[in-house]
Amino acid sequence: MKLQGNKVFITGAAQGIGKSIALSMANEGADIGIADVNLESAEKTAQEIRGLGVKSIAVRLDVSKQDQVVHAFEVFMKELGAPDVLVNNAGITRDTVLLRMKEDDWDAVLDINLKGSFLCCKEAVKIMAKQRYGKIISISSVVAFMGNAGQINYSASKAGLIGLTKTIAKDYASRGIRANAVAPGFIQTAMTDILSDTVREEMKRAIPLGQFGTPDDVADAVLFLASKASDYITGQVIHVNGGMYM
Ligand code: NAP
Repeated sequence: MKLQGNKVFITGAAQGIGKSIALSMANEGADIGIADVNLESAEKTAQEIRGLGVKSIAVRLDVSKQDQVVHAFEVFMKELGAPDVLVNNAGITRDTVLLRMKEDDWDAVLDINLKGSFLCCKEAVKIMAKQRYGKIISISSVVAFMGNAGQINYSASKAGLIGLTKTIAKDYASRGIRANAVAPGFIQTAMTDILSDTVREEMKRAIPLGQFGTPDDVADAVLFLASKASDYITGQVIHVNGGMYM
């Protein structure tokens, strides 16, 4: 049990990659707080996790709203105790090219993907600094490193997460806090199911391992970063992309 006794706060974990991360951590003995805009589906995931014999709660949270983030951490502290691990997973896309992108679409993606992580880190670090231990893992993307046609807002938000991660790693290492990122490539979830067959085939050709990743591939990397096995690692990025970017 790699995470026995740990308490993990995961955003956007009602479904997709976040749900896989939550399940894999619960299987390693962690108690899990699922914070998601979709409370109904977050509660279903929490119920599934409780079935594994650990504690789990669901909290409705829009990560881009500071008052909701503060409240979600208060609920987590009351129900599960101080978090040892924060996983910034909530993320959205609003794709188009620069000249067609509306300010609202830029703001929505930056607010959820980047500002949301900043707000969650702030609440988590307040608690983790006091207990002199904590792990923050943020889900970035391969596009932070490569760019991607039609994803100017998303690529910028995910690149921003890398700067945020490295800076937290430097600022709070002395308090026992490690901050790392995982940068997935093309992972099969609801987010990528909406892409056309042509785009999917094109992407597959760009992956040396010749196949898309699964949410469990990402969960394995996050589990490593959350566990004691990675205690001497901070400010790093683990790429989970089948070789798409090296
Ligand atoms: P997903 O299936 O769309 O799941 C994202 C979850 O976040 C959903 O439950 C969503 O709820 C929730 N969410 C959306 N806005 C939120 C907000 N403001 N506050 C809290 N929760 C919110 O996406 P995914 O594919 O699992 O992606 C998870 C993370 O991995 C994202 O950060 C994504 O950018 C990143 N990533 C994914 C891929 C990929 O290929 N799938 C690749 C690289 C990186 P609703 O469904 O109700 O909106």
